[in-house]
Amino acid sequence: MSQFLDPRFAALKEYTPGEQPQDKQYIKLNTNESPFPPSDQVVQAVNGEQVRDLRLYCDPDCTKLKKAMAQRFGVGENNIFLSNGSDDILNFCFMAYGGRGAAFADITYGFYEVFAKLHGVQAEIIPLKDDFSLDVDAFRGKNKLVVIANPNAPTGLYLDLAVIEDIVRANPHSVVVVDEAYVDFGGESCYKLIDRYENLVVCQTFSKSRSLAGGRLGFAFACPALIADLEKIKYSTNPYNINRLTQAAGLAVIEDDGYYMENCRRIMENRAFAVAQLESLGFEVLPSKANFIFCRSDRIGGKQLYLQLKEKGILVRHFDKARISDFVRITIGTYEQMQALVAAVRELLGE
Ligand SMILES: *Cc1c(COP(=O)(O)O)cnc(C)c1O
Repeated sequence: MSQFLDPRFAALKEYTPGEQPQDKQYIKLNTNESPFPPSDQVVQAVNGEQVRDLRLYCDPDCTKLKKAMAQRFGVGENNIFLSNGSDDILNFCFMAYGGRGAAFADITYGFYEVFAKLHGVQAEIIPLKDDFSLDVDAFRGKNKLVVIANPNAPTGLYLDLAVIEDIVRANPHSVVVVDEAYVDFGGESCYKLIDRYENLVVCQTFSKSRSLAGGRLGFAFACPALIADLEKIKYSTNPYNINRLTQAAGLAVIEDDGYYMENCRRIMENRAFAVAQLESLGFEVLPSKANFIFCRSDRIGGKQLYLQLKEKGILVRHFDKARISDFVRITIGTYEQMQALVAAVRELLGE
C-alpha cells in the first residue's frame, strides 16, 4: 500500500477469488463454473468479423442482446439491466441503495461485505439459524438494503418463492436484492414478481449455468425505475462494460438456451450421485439446489480435506471462517469428475 491511498480504502479487505491455478491441470471443483463448454454457436458468434470490429466501441445499450433476453424471459426491455458479471450489478446496488445500510446473512456470498466496506455502507450481519437456514423474521422491516442469495452460497440452501415474496413485501421502504446466480439448478426464479414490487432487484448471471464465466456477463430484472437507477450508475462509471465479443457470445447463448438448460439437468443428476456417494461415506451434505454441495465429515477436517484433495489434483473450496471451517464446498462437474472425487475421498478415508 502506498502513502497516497485514500484512508477510506486503507482498511478495506478485498475479496479473495477462488484459486485459478495456472501451473497444472486440476479437476477444478472450486469456483462453480460449468464443466461443459459453450455451444458451437458461441464459437461461431465470436468470429473474425467480430474481432475486426474490436476497433469500434461496443453498443453500450446491448440492444440486440437485451431484445433477445426480453423475449426469452417474457419481460420488457426496460425490465432488464446488463453488466460485466453480476458482481458488477451487486456493486452498483450497494452504491445506489446502501445509503441507510445493508442487511445480509453471516454465511453468504463474501462479496456483499466487501461491497459494503468499499462504499462505506453500514452492514447489519444477520446470523443464519443453526441449520444454516435464513432467519426470515430477522429480515422484515429492515428499512435498508436487503441482500439475499437464493440459493445461498456456499450452503446451497434454497428458499421457496413464497418466502422471498414475504421478505420483499415486508421491506416496502427499501430495495431487496435477490442474487439468483444458482437458480437454474433446481430453484424457481422470483423475477416474475418484478411487476408487482417496485423494490425488487433480481440478479442472475451467465457464469454458472451458461458456461460463460470468463466472458463476464450478468443481468438483473426489476421495474423500469430501478433499472433506470442502475443504468445511471453504469453510464457514470463505464458504459462500455460489456465488450463486443461478450455481447455476441451472450446472444448466441440465449438463442441456444435449450443446450444450457439440458446441461443444468445433467449437473442436477451428477449432484444427486455425488450426494448419495458422500453420504454413504458418512458425510453430512446440506440440501443443495445449486451446482455445488457443502459438506463435512467427522473423520476429516475441512482444511485437511481441501489440502489432501489438492495434492491428488482435485481442487475444492474451503472457507477459513467461523461456523463453516469444517466444511468444503465442491462444485458439481461431469459424472466422471464426480467419480474421481468420490474415489479420492474414499482413498483419503482409507476405505
Ligand atoms: C458466482 C457468484 C456471483 C458472481 O457471478 P459473476 O456474474 O461471475 O460476477 C454472484 N453471486 C453469487 C452468490 C455467486 O456465487
